[in-house]
Amino acid sequence: MKPIEIYCPWCYKHVALVWIALRYGIGHRGYATEKIEEPIFYNTAKGNWSIGMCPSCKNCVLIKINDKRSSVFPNPLPTPTDERIPEKIRKDIDEAKLCLSVNAFRACAGMCRRALQQACILKSASPKKKLEKQIDELAERRIITNEIKEWAHAIRWVGNDALHPEFPEVAKEEAKEILDLTERFMDIAFAASERVKKLKEKHGKVKK
Ligand SMILES: [Zn+2]
Repeated sequence: MKPIEIYCPWCYKHVALVWIALRYGIGHRGYATEKIEEPIFYNTAKGNWSIGMCPSCKNCVLIKINDKRSSVFPNPLPTPTDERIPEKIRKDIDEAKLCLSVNAFRACAGMCRRALQQACILKSASPKKKLEKQIDELAERRIITNEIKEWAHAIRWVGNDALHPEFPEVAKEEAKEILDLTERFMDIAFAASERVKKLKEKHGKVKK
């Protein structure tokens, strides 16, 4: 089985977990542990469990092994957000990721919507307008393409629905999708231009 890579909830580093087995040691208080190549499954009525150790800080996590996606406890930290995205927005996205990691899907969608509005205002959309109009304004001024405009409206719809009790709940898959779209939107709006600037500088294409 492939090692599980996570941001360790104990030391915050990105690591590949090491599989651990429990071995009964005579004259030992409790069990000794041993590193192993393939995970041992401890089976219960609710599934297969295994133990992973962070190779960096040596703390352990409990892993519920599933065919599709294994769950890790305590929850691993979410992946960090691109540093080139302005701090205000990055904080919102980080919070959206934390919400997702504890199954708070509506809160996740709400934070994505908030991040989007911050981005529109930073891209100089009129701050007093509603988000819907701000998105359209950015497209009209060609700051975003029509395609990106559609993404932004999708984030807005789900984010709006999340905050109004009369609208449907936000499902896990939807929350993930919205978070992914929000990060891609921010990448295009902020990080990509930085990357292009670096390339231009490196290849001497910056006009003096
Ligand atoms: Zn660690």
